[in-house]
Amino acid sequence: MDISFDDLDFDYAASIAERAMRSMVEQRIPPTPSNFAVWFHYFAGDHDDLRNAVDLLIDHSRPFDARTNQDLFETYIAPNAGIVALETSERLHALMGAAKEFLATAIADNRSQMQAISDVADQSQAGVNPRALVAQLMNELARAATRATRLEVGFAEKTRELDVIRDSLSKSEERARTDTLTGLANRRALDEFLRKAQANAMEQGTPLSVLMLDIDHFKTFNDNFGHGVGDQVLRLMANVLREKVRDIDLPARYGGEELIAVMPDADLAACAAIAERIRRSIAECTITRRSTGEVLPNISISIGVAQFRTGEPIADLIERGDRALYLAKGRGRNRVVTERELDRA
Ligand code: GH3
Ligand code: MG
Ligand code: MG
Repeated sequence: MDISFDDLDFDYAASIAERAMRSMVEQRIPPTPSNFAVWFHYFAGDHDDLRNAVDLLIDHSRPFDARTNQDLFETYIAPNAGIVALETSERLHALMGAAKEFLATAIADNRSQMQAISDVADQSQAGVNPRALVAQLMNELARAATRATRLEVGFAEKTRELDVIRDSLSKSEERARTDTLTGLANRRALDEFLRKAQANAMEQGTPLSVLMLDIDHFKTFNDNFGHGVGDQVLRLMANVLREKVRDIDLPARYGGEELIAVMPDADLAACAAIAERIRRSIAECTITRRSTGEVLPNISISIGVAQFRTGEPIADLIERGDRALYLAKGRGRNRVVTERELDRA
C-alpha cells in the first residue's frame, strides 16, 4: 500500500510535495513534518483509508484543526511509517545496552570473588593466620553483596521501563486498528479478522456470516441537524451493535455510515435474528439533543445478511451482504433482508 519514497520519480515526487504544500497553506494547516506526511500521502494516493478519511472531512467541510491533524497522522501514517516502532526500537536498544552492562559487571564481580577465594586458599597453604584470612574473605563478599544490590535496583528500574515500552507498543497497535469516531475496529482490523474467520470456517466446516448495516436517510439527517449530531448517531449505532453481538464477533466500521459485523459460527438464521434485534433497538431509541433537550426524529437502519460459501472469495460474501442491504433499502428501509431473498427478488 505504501509507496517507497526511493521508487518515486523525482519530478513526480516534487509535484506531489508541491500540491501537498499548496493545499496545506490554503487550509492554514501548519506545515509540520507529520502534517506534511499526511498531505503527501493524500496526494500520492497510495493510501485508500487516508484518502477516504480526508475526503469525508472535506465533504463535510470539517476544519483541519490540531486535533484532526494529529488523529489523521496517528491513525493512517504513524502505524505505516513505523515511526512508533523506530522510537520503540531505539529505546529497546538502549535497554539492551544497559542489560549487557549489568551482566558484564555481574560476571566481573563473580570473577573477583573467585580470585579472592583462591588467594585466601593460597595464603592458608602458606600458613597465614586463619582469622585474618576469614576477615579478608568476609570483606570481599560484603563488597560484592553491595554491588549486587545496586545491580538489582538498576535492573528493577529497567524492567519497569520495559513494561512502559510494552504498554505503549500495545496501545499504538490498538490505535492503528481502531476507528477514531466510533471506537470500533477499522478496515485494517476488519480485513485481518475476515481472513482468519474465512480460514477457520473452511478448516472446521463451521458457518460464518456478516451483517451489513447502513443508516436510513442519513444525508437528510445530517442536513437537518448538522454533522456533529450525525456523528453522535453514528456512535450510538456503533454502541448498539457492540452491545448486541457476541464476544467472538467483530463489529467494525466498514466506511462512512456503514457498519459491519462479522459473525463466526453463526448461520443466516441466527444472524438474521441478531440483526432484527439490532434494527429494533435502534428504531426504538429516542435521540435527544444534549444542548437543547430537543427530541429528534427517530432514526432507522437497514441491514443485509449473508453467509459464507466455502471456497468463495471474501469479497463475494461482502457483495451479497451489500446487495441484501440495498434490497432492504428498496423495500422501504428499516428492515433486515437476508441473501436468501436475493434469489427471489
Ligand atoms: P439511504 O437510506 O439510502 O442509506 O440514504 P442515505 O442518505 O443514508 O444515503 P447514503 O447511505 O448513500 O449516504 C451516506 C451519507 O452519510 C452521506 C454522508 O453525509 C453521511 N456520512 C457518511 N459518513 C459520515 C460520518 O462519518 N459522519 C456523519 N455525520 N455523516 C456521515
Ligand atoms: Mg451509506
Ligand atoms: Mg445510508
